[in-house]
Amino acid sequence: MVTRPAMALRFYNTLTQRVEEFQPQDGRTVRMYTCGPTVWNYVHIGNLRTFTFQDILRRWLRYRGYQLDHVMNITDVDDRIIQQANAAGKTLAEYTGQYTEAFLADCATLRLERPEKLVRATDHIADMIRLIQRLEETGHTYRSEGSVYFRIATFPEYGKLSHADFGGIKDGARVDTDKYDKENARDFVLWKGRKEGEPYWDSPFGPGRPGWHIECSAMAMAYLGETLDIHAGGIDLTFPHHENEIAQSEAASGKPFARFWLHSEHLLVGGATMSKSAGNFFTLRDLLAQGWQPEAVRYLLASVPYRKKQVFTFDALQSASTAIERLRNYKLRLDTEKFPEGTHEALLQRTAQAVADFEAALDDDLNTAEALASIFEYIRETNSAMDSGEFKAGNVAAARDLMERFDRVFDVLKPTAAAALISDAEIEALLAERAQAKKARNFQRADQIRAALLEKGVILEDTKEGTRWRRK
Ligand SMILES: [Zn+2]
Repeated sequence: MVTRPAMALRFYNTLTQRVEEFQPQDGRTVRMYTCGPTVWNYVHIGNLRTFTFQDILRRWLRYRGYQLDHVMNITDVDDRIIQQANAAGKTLAEYTGQYTEAFLADCATLRLERPEKLVRATDHIADMIRLIQRLEETGHTYRSEGSVYFRIATFPEYGKLSHADFGGIKDGARVDTDKYDKENARDFVLWKGRKEGEPYWDSPFGPGRPGWHIECSAMAMAYLGETLDIHAGGIDLTFPHHENEIAQSEAASGKPFARFWLHSEHLLVGGATMSKSAGNFFTLRDLLAQGWQPEAVRYLLASVPYRKKQVFTFDALQSASTAIERLRNYKLRLDTEKFPEGTHEALLQRTAQAVADFEAALDDDLNTAEALASIFEYIRETNSAMDSGEFKAGNVAAARDLMERFDRVFDVLKPTAAAALISDAEIEALLAERAQAKKARNFQRADQIRAALLEKGVILEDTKEGTRWRRK
């Protein structure tokens, strides 16, 4: 029997462009910062792919015995938020509150663990002001028309994360919106002078509000110190957001900002990146309303290694559901079937090998595809061994232990209770859509909605007065 040598936990580091062995600085607690959502709307499943990767990362670090101190920000002030809140006639807090709640609810539905600290940008304006002051004192900034900018020319290492040569940047060319083009490096805004109709805070630089990039640097360093173990986010944040975070943080502290930078790839639909602006996105709520199980969405998003582009298709989502059924059937068999007395030694060794393969795959930069393959290969083999009577009662405990290890990371074995899947408001919204569909004689859609609701334990009764509903 060949056992693989135990290899250390390794991650691909965008900063060095190499797979490197990982250990936290103090050998015990991983200090990690991940860029959270901008709460101006519902997140789509492309965003949720990034958060699912971070959940797998968290769970694997803990599996490997580390403790976590993980901070995630909620960006609750930016151009889009202000625009939308004004249009809706709401205060910033009212407007962002609803989408923050929705985001946290979506994460809970997908079984994404809460970071140790979830921090709102607007609660940390003072930290951001202090960091901007530090940068002013060390000569990295300039002021113009009530705003403060970071002068990229004062940070020669600019570009080291995205590995682009920004030597030709024009000093003093600046950008002061929250939206950046991905082509040009330009001096970026740290503090945006007050504009009519926008919320503002007082500061030594005059009234205004922080830029987006300074948020993350200020909050990360406030909670985790000047050098993080891991900074993670979606790949589209590499430039300019993370490049700017490095410039601000390192210019202020003189220390490396993060030792490891981990970036997850895009979710594609029909060859294009899923995004709000492209209009080709699904929210988690869209998929659940169609009757898909949240575990299937979680499994699908986790099943492709995070550094590979993933193509979203409904076939793939169906395959994820089927895979979960197989896993659950196997677990049920382990839990309920009577196996012959005794222990099959070779099968015990086979189980140990499956554990080793599973762990080796995840140690290898979170290769989830290979980890899943090792589990399914094992299930296929032991199912046959059960059929032939070779699998004995003495083999059950180790097999169960393997499934428990699997589920500590993937967390799909336990079904979500149907009642928790849909709120009264969501039911009412679907009923309204169904009434519309019936009026338009689109009976197919009306039936689809009835079936989707039934799947979630909601029963409809059409009466003369309209449609009534109740939970099973
Ligand atoms: Zn960030």
